[in-house]
Amino acid sequence: MNQTTIAKSVRCSGIGLHGGGRVGLELHPAGPDTGIVFHLRTAEGVKRLVPDPGQVVGTGLATTLGNGDGSVRTVEHLLAAIRGLGIDNIVIETEGDEVPIMDGSAGSFVYLLRSAGIQEQNRLRRVLAVTRPFEHKDGEKRIRVEPFDGFRVDYLIEFDHPLIGRQTLRLDLTPENFARRVAKARTFGFLSDVEALHRCGLALGGSLENAVVLDEYGVVNQEGLRYKDEFVRHKVLDFVGDMAVAPLPLWGHFEVRCSGHAFNNEFLRLLMDNAATCLRTVTLAGNAAGAREAAPARAAVAAAPA
Ligand SMILES: [Zn+2]
Repeated sequence: MNQTTIAKSVRCSGIGLHGGGRVGLELHPAGPDTGIVFHLRTAEGVKRLVPDPGQVVGTGLATTLGNGDGSVRTVEHLLAAIRGLGIDNIVIETEGDEVPIMDGSAGSFVYLLRSAGIQEQNRLRRVLAVTRPFEHKDGEKRIRVEPFDGFRVDYLIEFDHPLIGRQTLRLDLTPENFARRVAKARTFGFLSDVEALHRCGLALGGSLENAVVLDEYGVVNQEGLRYKDEFVRHKVLDFVGDMAVAPLPLWGHFEVRCSGHAFNNEFLRLLMDNAATCLRTVTLAGNAAGAREAAPARAAVAAAPA
């Protein structure tokens, strides 16, 4: 199975969830073994940021990545689309300090990436495969992973709200499954929280254009839901995006209960801390997902945050 990148550069712009202003980004092809890299345009020039679980510096509302040079907010739906479509190598050049929220889903990014075209490269794909079960728990929140040839997630949410309640979803991550089942599911929030955020000058770009908003009885958005279980579908989308800050695509079967951005990141950091015993870098040989040959655990060990 070969690595992939996009066939040509593409751009898009939209509203920033936090600041409410117009922000834009360009996506560029990248060579084999580049991974996902951000180029942040700042007043001091272009700064490079390579996503890493340890560089998730904020998880309130959305995920923020940052290092000493700069930061970028609301990265998770774009990263989910990149991983979801199986793109290994790409440069994301951002104009502002936020990725546009678009419609609150990953649908626009899937469209953008597919319109660029996805190109196979002349190098075999590498993944970080889970080699033994690993679990992180905190109260009702729990993520457990075990070895699996591919990326499978079983997600459960429970909200004390008549429209949400208990929802479950299993996703075997392939470009088709990602695009068809989760990419268009929108982020959601509660009206009371939105009002409080706006009063504090936060989530200024948040509106019914880019989120499902719930009051105590149901959905405020006139168009209603895109799926009855849009909530758990969006949670799976977020999970794919949050795991995409690992240095390589992860292979494992994840069982996730009642998690969110912060807990997802806690889990991923712990997993990386245990990379020497729980993860192995595997080079995928041939076309079948099951056909593979093992490579030394070098990258897995190096993946642990310094
Ligand atoms: Zn989200």
